[in-house]
Amino acid sequence: MSDAILVLNAGSSSLKFSVFLDDEPPKPFLRGQLEGLFTSPRFMARDEAGELAGSKEWSGGTKLGHDGAIEYLFDWGRQGALRGNRIVAAGHRVAHGGLKFTKAVRIGAEVMTALDELVPLVPLHQPHNLAAIKVVAQRAPDLPQVACFDTSFHRTQPAVAQMFALPRRFADEGIYRYGFHGLSYEYIASVLPRIDQRAATGRTIVAHLGNGASMCAMKNRQCIATTMGFSSIEGLPMGTRCGALDPGVLLYLMDRHNKDARALETLLYKESGLLGLSGISSDVRTLLASPDARAAEALDYFVYRIGRELGSLAAALGGLDAIIFTGGIGENSDVIRARVCREATWLGLILDEAANNAGGPKISRPDSRVAAWVVPANEELMIAQHTQHVLSSANE
Ligand code: ADP
Repeated sequence: MSDAILVLNAGSSSLKFSVFLDDEPPKPFLRGQLEGLFTSPRFMARDEAGELAGSKEWSGGTKLGHDGAIEYLFDWGRQGALRGNRIVAAGHRVAHGGLKFTKAVRIGAEVMTALDELVPLVPLHQPHNLAAIKVVAQRAPDLPQVACFDTSFHRTQPAVAQMFALPRRFADEGIYRYGFHGLSYEYIASVLPRIDQRAATGRTIVAHLGNGASMCAMKNRQCIATTMGFSSIEGLPMGTRCGALDPGVLLYLMDRHNKDARALETLLYKESGLLGLSGISSDVRTLLASPDARAAEALDYFVYRIGRELGSLAAALGGLDAIIFTGGIGENSDVIRARVCREATWLGLILDEAANNAGGPKISRPDSRVAAWVVPANEELMIAQHTQHVLSSANE
């Protein structure tokens, strides 16, 4: 029997969770999710060997929210799924830590107030993250909780990389380029020394390509520029998010289409990107398999924008030593990786086709000036580690 850490990632309609045994480093024990919250909830969990550890489907129309999901999870754990291990802390993925939270933090009343104040900056994400924290606090008031932020890793960017050319008073009210996916980048930065020493100490671009997609330029494993900004719709086009957009388009849509903020939010976050361009799907697998010219064009745009951002981030770095692919697309699509690598030929990248087809991990040729790697994302481990460290330093 050991102590264990519960890691929670609460989204708008899902609650992803992992349980790690409190070892050094934390050891994965269980992982799973409750999906379809509020509509048709279903639960599935697997153990460390990938074997099914639990599953359940609720009848359609069941209104299971975050509170019910966490309650179900706790009961499931208590009924034997934890195999005698004891949850001693909960670590949460939290979208926004503002400028204030540059690292993970133990959650108390004061922190909670500060996190609530950030809700207007990320109204589609933060409320769900905070809801999970509040429900856990109600169900287990003595359980220490730690917030781990997707913005923290980007606070090392120079000031110029974090500003907008708006009148200063808007920065005073929090309008900055914050950047997101920080826990994914931080994990990659933490394993880089074991993978490629030159990439770890040099100039590396990490491409986190999933449903959400962004890129991060690291010098000596510290962020110096990233493609997401004030919000998570900036930068690369994504599954359903538009990516970089001329602000003049927004003015036009407001004037000519009478779109208010909520309508624009739906358009830009949920109806755009690969889905909007293809009219078929937000899923790269579906688009790659489709004979429709619009699917091909959506993927062309995706790769083109990644190529443009590669150039921009390489300029911010003053050169390039390595590219790392991560996220669902980055880890699994040899086709997209090959196309992106071709965009980086001018930077000195020579793809090893066979290694890329085999999934890496190294996918550049030995004579390539820029190294390319595939590294699976592991934000959950990062959260478990932060939770361990925050609590152990509090106990010292
Ligand atoms: P999220 O941002 O929601 O965590 P993921 O990192 O799971 O998303 O990435 C989801 C994306 O990965 C989808 O577009 C999916 O099509 C893509 N993907 C997963 N497996 C493959 C594959 N074998 N080939 C191409 N794309 C893939």
